[in-house]
Amino acid sequence: MALITISGYPSSGKSQRAAQIKRHFEARLADPSYTGPSLSIVVLDDDTLNIDRSSYNDSKSEKPARGTLFTAVQRNLAQNKVVIVDSLNYIKGFRYQMYCAAREIKVRVCTVYVLATPDLCKQWNSERTDGKAYAPETLANLLQRYEEPSSMVRWDSPLFTVSWSDEDVPADDIWRAITEGVVKPPNTGTQAVAKAPTDALRTLEHTTASVVSALVSEQANSGSLGSTTTITLSPILKVRITLPPRNVTLSELQRLKRQFVTLHKKAITLGTTEKGAVDWSEQSVADKFVVYLEENMKP
Ligand code: ADP
Ligand code: MG
Repeated sequence: MALITISGYPSSGKSQRAAQIKRHFEARLADPSYTGPSLSIVVLDDDTLNIDRSSYNDSKSEKPARGTLFTAVQRNLAQNKVVIVDSLNYIKGFRYQMYCAAREIKVRVCTVYVLATPDLCKQWNSERTDGKAYAPETLANLLQRYEEPSSMVRWDSPLFTVSWSDEDVPADDIWRAITEGVVKPPNTGTQAVAKAPTDALRTLEHTTASVVSALVSEQANSGSLGSTTTITLSPILKVRITLPPRNVTLSELQRLKRQFVTLHKKAITLGTTEKGAVDWSEQSVADKFVVYLEENMKP
C-alpha cells in the first residue's frame, strides 16, 4: 500500500513520531466507519532488525546495516501493508533507493522529516535510559553528514515536516498522501516528458556520459575535491555534487556509470517506468546519477 520514510537526526524523536503515526492509523482502520481495504501497519526500525547504535560509528559497519534495513523494506513492501521505516535515513541516495523499490511494486510513498535542533538531540541523547543512545562523537558526526530531505526531489515527496514543538503528527494529511496519493506536479525544469523508451535510453546514455566527462575536467581544473560543487553540463543543465576528498579515476566513474545505466535500462525495457511517474528528462537523469555517484563513490 505505502512506504513512509522517517528521517531525522539521531535522537530527534523519530521513533516517537513513528509510534504516533502507527497509533493514528490503527485507530482509523479499527473505526467502524472505515470501509477501505484491510491493512497492517508495520514499523521497521534498527532495534527490531538488531542493528546496534554502534553500527553508525563508522562507515564500514554502517553499510551492512543499511543493507539489512533495505532488505527488510523490500521484503515487507506489499499492497496490504503500510511500511514505516523508522531509522536515520539520512543519506539521500538511500532514500532514493527505497523510493525506487516502492515504485517498483507500485506503492505510494511519503517522507516524514522529524525536526529537532542539534542541541536538543544531544540533550535527549545524553538523557536516554533505554540503552539506545549514540556515542557522542557518532552523534556529532551524523549531525554533520545529515542530508536534509527536500520536497523538491521526487523521492522525498510528498514531504511532511514535524517539529519538536509539535504535539502530534499531521496524521490525516499523511493518510491522504498514502491512500489518495496526490501526485505532485513535476518541478519546472524537471518537467516530466513522456518519452519513448528509445529516447529514454539515449538520454540515459548521453546524460550520464556528460556527467562523467564534466567530473573528470572539474577534478583536473579546480580544487573542489572533498567539497560540494556545481557542475555545468550545458547552459540549461547543472548539477550539484559532493566529491570525495581524492581524485576519482575515470575508470571508477565509468564503472559506476555502467552500473547506473544497467540498473535503469532494465526499468525502461521492462516497462516498469510507471506512466509519467518516472521523469526521463536530462535534468532528472543527471540528478539521479549524481545521487547514485555520491552513494557509491568510495570515500
Ligand atoms: P529517535 O528514534 O530519533 O532516536 P526517540 O523517539 O527514541 O528518538 O526519542 C529520543 C529521546 O528524546 C526519548 O528519550 C524521548 O523521550 C525524547 N524526545 C523525543 N522527542 C521529544 C520531544 N518532542 N520533546 C521532548 N522530548 C523528546
Ligand atoms: Mg529510534
